[in-house]
Amino acid sequence: MHIRVDDTVQVITGEDRGTRARVLKVDLDEQKIVVEGVNRVYKHMRRSQKNPQGGRLSKEMPISISNVLLVCSACGRPVRTGARYRNDGSKERYCKKCGAEIGQVSPARPAYAKK
Ligand SMILES: [Zn+2]
Repeated sequence: MHIRVDDTVQVITGEDRGTRARVLKVDLDEQKIVVEGVNRVYKHMRRSQKNPQGGRLSKEMPISISNVLLVCSACGRPVRTGARYRNDGSKERYCKKCGAEIGQVSPARPAYAKK
């Protein structure tokens, strides 16, 4: 999984195509994410004790991870990312367009360190 909570992503398909927003939730098993304001649906609520008015509740539904691209914090474009080892054996994400690092993926492991 190359997308994490609080990343900024751009939606590349569907109704919300072109929208840039923050990732609120990541579901690793389903390969789905919830993006702020994207794929919003109205849930109709019955009147109840908790919600005496009833009415509509707006809620974001998960979308497939393949429908978004990460927005690179360095070049500002929606990009594909890769992972690469650093000298100390830790792994980082990087932008495949400009090469900038976008956050650490895994901690340092001496076995993978470059000599
Ligand atoms: Zn970039």
